[in-house]
Amino acid sequence: MTQEQFSKLQEIAKGAKNIAIISHKNPDGDAIGSSLGLRAFLFRQQLQARVIVPDSFPGFLRFLPESKSVWFFDKMKEAATQYIKSADLIFILDFNTLKRIEEIGALIENNPCPKVLIDHHPDPEVKAQFTYHRVTVSSTSELVFEFAQKLFPGSHLGAKAATCLYAGLVTDTGCFKHNLHERTHITAGKLLQAGADHEAVMLEIFDSNSFNRTRLLGYSLYEKLIMDPATGLAYIALSQEELKRFDYKKGDTEGFVNLALGIDGVKMAVLLTELNDGLTKLSFRSHGSFEVNGFAAKFFSGGGHKNAAGGAFEGTVDQAVDRLKESIPELIKMNLQNLRS
Ligand code: 5GP
Ligand code: MN
Repeated sequence: MTQEQFSKLQEIAKGAKNIAIISHKNPDGDAIGSSLGLRAFLFRQQLQARVIVPDSFPGFLRFLPESKSVWFFDKMKEAATQYIKSADLIFILDFNTLKRIEEIGALIENNPCPKVLIDHHPDPEVKAQFTYHRVTVSSTSELVFEFAQKLFPGSHLGAKAATCLYAGLVTDTGCFKHNLHERTHITAGKLLQAGADHEAVMLEIFDSNSFNRTRLLGYSLYEKLIMDPATGLAYIALSQEELKRFDYKKGDTEGFVNLALGIDGVKMAVLLTELNDGLTKLSFRSHGSFEVNGFAAKFFSGGGHKNAAGGAFEGTVDQAVDRLKESIPELIKMNLQNLRS
């Protein structure tokens, strides 16, 4: 975005009465962190905005400032629909395709108001008058940090926004492990300077696990982890019954797939969770030039980043495992092509 566009957007924002900030289904730390961060920053500029996401976020994000203000579309369809219909400025954060916001997608498309896309996923399909997009960045939260300074130059971010954005940056990099660039650490430092609460972020997100979640992790690794040295695939498949046995709550399996990826010789790790009757969610992770987003899109109507993608399968977890195994030769073929080109 040019400086001229930022000035124009500043004028639009100042005149807006209903600002909506939308992020994706199954919102993660970056989706909620970037959205609440932007909201808190706009609030300091005397601008009110409403964060709306398709469904609820994991409990470990509840500590984020103003997290209670977030509207879940599935829980308050009528009010959220009205709000989006009457919005005069819409921010679209942390996703690249309207499929990821389900019914909200049509509402956004039908509202002709100015839209701002801030995202770090490859090949954004979403059309917006203002687009702040980069793939080589840790997170949408980091982009919101840069964006805020350009939108209102010289303004202070505020500690609330800083904590939200820091949480997004930390979760999307897996605690500074991946999606990491020189600038990531510089941004993290600036967020701390602006008042981000590092201790709260670490404690609430990584060290506040329920007893059941910790036992589910042990069970998943000891009983359910399957590894195929021939293809370099490791996966954990959890049925609805198993999730129920450990009183599964949204977010409880966060990070499991990365532990499977951390095994020597593993090229791709997959976590399959049977969330409700007839729907299995898949999380894919890989290292380096081995890419999983194209595979997730082709076989599991999903997508994401090269080394971290997600998708879904209509069927039981066992059927999803069969589909995964059938499609592995294609995954290997896709990556041979990637490596050659
Ligand atoms: P996770 O496995 O943690 O749910 O998601 C990993 C990455 O893949 C995230 O960056 C997320 O944005 C993306 N992702 C997850 N699920 C989907 C999906 O169903 N569709 C698309 N396009 N991306 C997804
Ligand atoms: Mn993100």
